[in-house]
Amino acid sequence: MMIFLIFIFGLAIGSFLNVLIVRLPQPEISKYRNIVGGHSRCPKCRKRIFWFENIPVLSFFILKGRCRNCGSKISWQYPLVELLTGFLFLVSFLMYGNSLVYLIYVLFLVGLLTAIAFIDLNNLLIPDSLILVGFIVSFVFIFFASHFSPTISNFYGLLFFGGILLFLFLMTKGRGIGLGDVKMAGWLGFAFGLENSISLFYLTFFIGFIVAIILLVSKKAGLKSKVPLGSIMALASVLFLLSGFNLLDFINSELILRLWLD
Ligand SMILES: [Zn+2]
Repeated sequence: MMIFLIFIFGLAIGSFLNVLIVRLPQPEISKYRNIVGGHSRCPKCRKRIFWFENIPVLSFFILKGRCRNCGSKISWQYPLVELLTGFLFLVSFLMYGNSLVYLIYVLFLVGLLTAIAFIDLNNLLIPDSLILVGFIVSFVFIFFASHFSPTISNFYGLLFFGGILLFLFLMTKGRGIGLGDVKMAGWLGFAFGLENSISLFYLTFFIGFIVAIILLVSKKAGLKSKVPLGSIMALASVLFLLSGFNLLDFINSELILRLWLD
């Protein structure tokens, strides 16, 4: 029963994440009104979307993926984000359900990372506001309700992961990596601590390496294409979190080293 409820809760949060994913990258909207305020509207005909047209996943299939007014297609991303969030919340509950405080923190991280992943994938940008919120909540969690003991490790993690990305940013003169990626890496390093961020760093570049190979082989991208590194870091972080920080044990670390050194 609890598992069912947490999944439904995930769907609802996923629906909220969709609002952030669509609206946050549009500065003209956030400037003039509350980002989550106002009614949802069809992006084509601007007709108001009522609550019964906005039920996670269900509405998409009932409406057959089209606007009820103008018939324009609704993006598959909406039900995808909702289902993904529901699934990730479910796994989070199974992994961390024995500690309420920890569970809430993990759910927060998973939700925030999902929003960042899709925003970066769609727009190749990471909103500062999301990273700032991440920093604040991680700071509060680490220092006031911590199962990580609040140590200097978090600051070393920030310096390590943020530092590496800053170095790469300066090396590539901002062409391959954006400043948003640097800030995000700083936050993740802080949130995960030094030891975990070293693992996270390997995992990020391992996934990035595989994605790059796939894109190059399928000729979807050239060597100069921009990579949504934020999405890759988000994926690595979620995998790392939901494997209980043990993901690297499943992967042959020698293989990673070899890929890295060759
Ligand atoms: Zn419409």
